[in-house]
Amino acid sequence: QTADLYCVFGNPIHHSKSPVIHAMFAKQTGQAMDYQTNLAPLDGFAASVQQFIEIGGKGANVTVPFKLEAFALAQKLSARAAMAGAVNTLIFSAGEIIGDNTDGIGLVRDITHNASKPIHGRRVLLLGAGGAARGALLPLLEERPASLTIANRTLSKAVELVEMAKKSAMRSDCEIEAKTWEQLDGSFDLIVNATSASLQSEVPPIPSSIFSASSLAYDMMYADTQTRFNLYAQQCGAQTRDGLGMLIEQAAEAFFIWRGVRPETAPIFAHFRPVEGA
Ligand code: NDP
Repeated sequence: QTADLYCVFGNPIHHSKSPVIHAMFAKQTGQAMDYQTNLAPLDGFAASVQQFIEIGGKGANVTVPFKLEAFALAQKLSARAAMAGAVNTLIFSAGEIIGDNTDGIGLVRDITHNASKPIHGRRVLLLGAGGAARGALLPLLEERPASLTIANRTLSKAVELVEMAKKSAMRSDCEIEAKTWEQLDGSFDLIVNATSASLQSEVPPIPSSIFSASSLAYDMMYADTQTRFNLYAQQCGAQTRDGLGMLIEQAAEAFFIWRGVRPETAPIFAHFRPVEGA
């Protein structure tokens, strides 16, 4: 049996965990897959995708900095990719390029399944209004939280996301509002850090009162050591989780889209974090 060909496009790409994750999924489920990294030139994403299709590629993941270009390239989009304005999963089928976005559902699944924290009926705070925040919007609303507050350094971008969320069929009776850091008050059940501040070892100037002992603080960034945001949240008494689970769950969703089989994610988490996974 020849293996079906997949890859992850990015630049840089050598640090990507995706080949290891998908190889483990394929082994676990007995799928014949060959998943590679694909370093696309910064000005040559579309040509790289075309070449990959020509050599028989069946699908691909897309990471920084090509998620917007992948969105533009796709001839068909899932609802969540359309809402996200970005594509992290491509399907090459019958001469067509189909775009999906599994980042947001990966976040939601990591919170609700792996961390066993319900979002339904809870007060949710989303920090940031960039690509990752936008991608999380529809999957978060689908869980029907009691309220969704979006806070961002540039308030106008949070307002834009709130407008999008309000237009969504999923809003039901969820209260949705945009705030500046200074306007935040009261505690939230779930606080998702979708800013890239952690990449610069910074924490947005959020008041400590947003955290309580029952809050889950979730930093989308992941690292071998605690992120600055999660350290701060812990000092404020909250429970914390970082984005490794989200990364693994977005991969599992892409794998499911391509292969029709849902892999177990716990063994992969345990592979990267032996202590926590045990
Ligand atoms: P974008 O560049 O699209 O957005 C960045 C956001 O962070 C904006 O809202 C920006 O605010 C805000 N921001 C940047 N610097 C600061 C700062 N110093 N203080 C406060 N706010 C700041 O990035 P993405 O949305 O693509 O990525 C955000 C994070 O999510 C990254 O850490 C990324 O690694 C992570 N991520 C994790 C994934 C996973 O699988 N675990 C998947 C995707 C992303 P403003 O609008 O004012 O500029």
